[in-house]
Amino acid sequence: MKEIKLVLDQLGSTENNFGVSTGISSWAGAGELIKSFSPVDGKEIAGVTSASQADYEKVIETAQKAFKEWRIVPAPKRGEIVRQIGEQLRLKKEALGTLVSYEMGKSLQEGFGEVQEMIDICDFAVGLSRQLYGLTMHSERPQHRMYEQWHPLGIVGIISAFNFPVAVWSWNAMLAWVCGDVCIWKPSEKTPLTALACQNIISHVLKENNLPEGISCILTGGKEVGEWLSADTRIPLISATGSTGMGRQVGEAVGRRLGRSLLELGGNNAIIITPSADLKVAIPGIVFGAVGTAGQRCTSTRRLIVHVDIYEEVKTRLVKAYAQLRIGNPLDENNHVGPLIDKAAVEQYNISAEKIIEQGGSFLIKPKVLDGRGYESGCYVTPCIAEVENHFQIVQHETFAPILYLIPYETLEQAVAIQNDVPQGLSSSIFTLNMRESEYYLSVSGSDCGIANVNIGTSGAEIGGAFGGEKETGGGRESGSDAWRAYMRRQTNTVNYGNALPLAQGIKFEI
Ligand code: NAD
Repeated sequence: MKEIKLVLDQLGSTENNFGVSTGISSWAGAGELIKSFSPVDGKEIAGVTSASQADYEKVIETAQKAFKEWRIVPAPKRGEIVRQIGEQLRLKKEALGTLVSYEMGKSLQEGFGEVQEMIDICDFAVGLSRQLYGLTMHSERPQHRMYEQWHPLGIVGIISAFNFPVAVWSWNAMLAWVCGDVCIWKPSEKTPLTALACQNIISHVLKENNLPEGISCILTGGKEVGEWLSADTRIPLISATGSTGMGRQVGEAVGRRLGRSLLELGGNNAIIITPSADLKVAIPGIVFGAVGTAGQRCTSTRRLIVHVDIYEEVKTRLVKAYAQLRIGNPLDENNHVGPLIDKAAVEQYNISAEKIIEQGGSFLIKPKVLDGRGYESGCYVTPCIAEVENHFQIVQHETFAPILYLIPYETLEQAVAIQNDVPQGLSSSIFTLNMRESEYYLSVSGSDCGIANVNIGTSGAEIGGAFGGEKETGGGRESGSDAWRAYMRRQTNTVNYGNALPLAQGIKFEI
């Protein structure tokens, strides 16, 4: 794609940025070269070198030094820097959104949407910078004051996945920065260029404000760089987004050194369609959830649990809706479905399709890998629908592709039990016009997921709410609400302003 050179120029990503970068200087890492290929047309966009151990040490030292300065900058002033980052992102939205779309393969609208999410979290973090509240408590001792305050943690290591190559990092980084932390980002090896483009934007703001290098650092590379971060006692918090397998390894490594981890892992998200559902609203919600980003969102709709009375009608409507899907270049706004990230993902799609049949399922809409003009990258597949049973091993597993499972149910209790009977617990929703059903669904006996929606689909969360899921999804919460607390340490303070030393619990100690 010719225009991509222009986009990279606008983002300052063609020169000077080879792989490893602190806030102001960037250098070619001494590790292996990672080539970034676009799944859109299969072309190589650029090469980026990985960090070596020596690069890693240099980055850690720079970040440690920066933390000492950054933590004493008042939080609202840190918020002002994040405000400026938001302004730069507004200016670069089109270029960065286009690069996201080209490097990752999501639609242009979704690429722009991802940058908009970054802008939104900047706005949120700016407000938050004046609201990092602690509580005050009444002391049981006379002339004593007791309160808690929140202090920055130090270095936050951010390990991110390919599918939200920039937004998820910004959810972490913007909050961490207003909290007074410094960040080291290990982006996905599948999307290093968008990461370097973000780093250029941040560098510009840091430089303009004469701020220490090391507030924002990037270490490009594969999983080994993530492993170094996870094992490093100099990093109090690792926030990792990706597969459950990765989360288990990161969680174990961080746990071994008693560090903190914030894990955002895979989902197996379901929608329940009840007899009263407004199908005019439900069908677009299902289709967007199942095929948007080619089924490569952590919140993609994977399972559709449909009441038996409307099962046939839902099937018919879905087949009609899927027939209208246009699959092709995601930079063309007329297309609904773009490519999978790479050929390995296509292979996984094929393997899952075989397992669906082996395990007793059948296809309502068959899977197919597309070839020919416009599909030269080999990464385009047909979104498919299969009729299955929830207990099939393949249904219990997250396949990161546009495969939607249909499962019938008879009672709401049964539908909720089916929905919850998977190892993951990220996003869920019900379509119903019956208040008793929706309240039951949201009650303690209902959905066990971190996100539970009524009359909207499973994907497309807003940044204002805390985002994350239960069970194998990892339990972490990012973005809105009080997710900021994960990036700070809480300190309880008791001050005695009297002239005696009364002890707590009435204990006497006389000397
Ligand atoms: P992945 O697990 O393959 O890789 C994610 C990141 O982890 C990459 O940067 C990778 O280099 C790194 N990594 C891999 N193994 C590691 C290890 N042992 N130690 C340290 N780092 C390691 O995931 P992916 O294919 O890039 O992304 C898709 C997955 O991410 C899906 O499972 C999806 O559901 C999940 N995801 C979850 C959320 C969420 O918020 N819950 C958001 C986006 C994606």
